[in-house]
Amino acid sequence: MYMDLKRRMVDVFKYMDEKGLNYGRSGNISVKVGDDRLLITPSGVIKSAMSPEDILLVSINGEVIEGRHKPSVEMPLHLAIYMSYSHVGAIIHAHPVYTSILAVIREPLPPIIEEMMLYTGGEVRVADYAPFGTEELAENAVKALKGRSAVILANHGVVTCGRNLDEALEVLVVVERTSQIYVLAKLTGKVHSLPDEIVDYYKSLFAKKIIGQ
Ligand SMILES: [Zn+2]
Repeated sequence: MYMDLKRRMVDVFKYMDEKGLNYGRSGNISVKVGDDRLLITPSGVIKSAMSPEDILLVSINGEVIEGRHKPSVEMPLHLAIYMSYSHVGAIIHAHPVYTSILAVIREPLPPIIEEMMLYTGGEVRVADYAPFGTEELAENAVKALKGRSAVILANHGVVTCGRNLDEALEVLVVVERTSQIYVLAKLTGKVHSLPDEIVDYYKSLFAKKIIGQ
């Protein structure tokens, strides 16, 4: 079932590996199929070598419906986001370098580039630290994700969301690129955020366009 979607999930992982957005066994992707089911990548598999058959079909409560592996250890995080934000149709969790630097210094990504605002809805917050795979991490991420399409996980990585998988991937690419600009710009000691009225404009545009409010 859902072979086209599973193939696309495999391709997205290969793309992320090639572009340095993720590596090895880390990271996970899920895509909602219908109201109460999702496809999710397996735990412990080298993601760029994954095949479509390795991807699991699970219920919104986390029960495995189909699959030969264990689901991702971050499944609680994925489930909590779908439960809290009904507009979300796909989630990517990855460990890209520059956003992970912000995760380590526990500093949000400020609104510095208009393109980023279109995709994220505003400053990308840092969720309070909790160990990976825990319900506490899921709760902290959900809280920090409000009104945004991305959240930085303290000392860990990033989560991006979209109405579909391609959108979640676009958000990841833009967040990592903007994090790179920000980290390098900080080295000059001169970083300016966008003007407040521009930030407010994009926040309301994002709310209308993406969240549907
Ligand atoms: Zn992780």
